[in-house]
Amino acid sequence: MKIYISCDMEGTSGVVSWDQCLKDRPEFERARYLLLGDVNAAVEGALAAGADEVIVADMHDGSLILPTEGLHPGAKYVVGVPHISPRFPYLEDSFDAMFLVAYHAMAETSPAVLAHTMSSEWFEYAVNGTPVGEVEIDAALAGAAGVPVTLVTGDQAVCAEARRFLGEIETVEVKQATDYARALCLAPMTSHQLIREAAERAAKIGKKVKRFGFGTPVEITVKMRDQRAVPRGDGKATFNPDPFTIGYRYKRFEEHYGGTWKGRK
Ligand SMILES: [Zn+2]
Repeated sequence: MKIYISCDMEGTSGVVSWDQCLKDRPEFERARYLLLGDVNAAVEGALAAGADEVIVADMHDGSLILPTEGLHPGAKYVVGVPHISPRFPYLEDSFDAMFLVAYHAMAETSPAVLAHTMSSEWFEYAVNGTPVGEVEIDAALAGAAGVPVTLVTGDQAVCAEARRFLGEIETVEVKQATDYARALCLAPMTSHQLIREAAERAAKIGKKVKRFGFGTPVEITVKMRDQRAVPRGDGKATFNPDPFTIGYRYKRFEEHYGGTWKGRK
């Protein structure tokens, strides 16, 4: 059994603020260890289910977030920022399932801790007219690679979003958001126990969970808060439906993120 884990940061147990998620902020160093606890719990669950290979991709804000010295020895880690490779190196159909740990809800969700899609400058990210968030983007990339997402952890908003798009998968609500930067949080030790148990179940249901994907061909539209930041389309592969929005057209969604690892050039 092979499990691929992608970790973000905003959905970590006990994390509610950008003061914890940005590299130059005072609480960042402590928050990295909170994230490490959630990720290690997911690795432990996968191993308990019988996984013989676990890969973790450290994906938040330029990577290099997980403190190296505390990494669980039972996994390997993709660290750093890609220049030409696909978003998820090594992810291909030999993996049984993908977990999305410490994720957050899509832009404009409320109440939801630090809700956004890819950038706080983006008002809405839509695929074929449907607004989606990072859970759906990454689940579609996993689906294109032949892998279902079977576990999402974060606040109640991202867990509800994940179940709405991905169906009956495992979710762990490590906090109940009451606002954009406030939540009723479980103690990390409690979250870790729940994540460990859910990850063990999630590792075993890969064969039963449908792979997520968007209809083809795809139109991606990104509406930004400031129209001066919007690139001009060429009218073919890219277009501007309105002054605040850049659109992209592809045969398949994954082309926007460098394709799949198996199909890389
Ligand atoms: Zn992030």
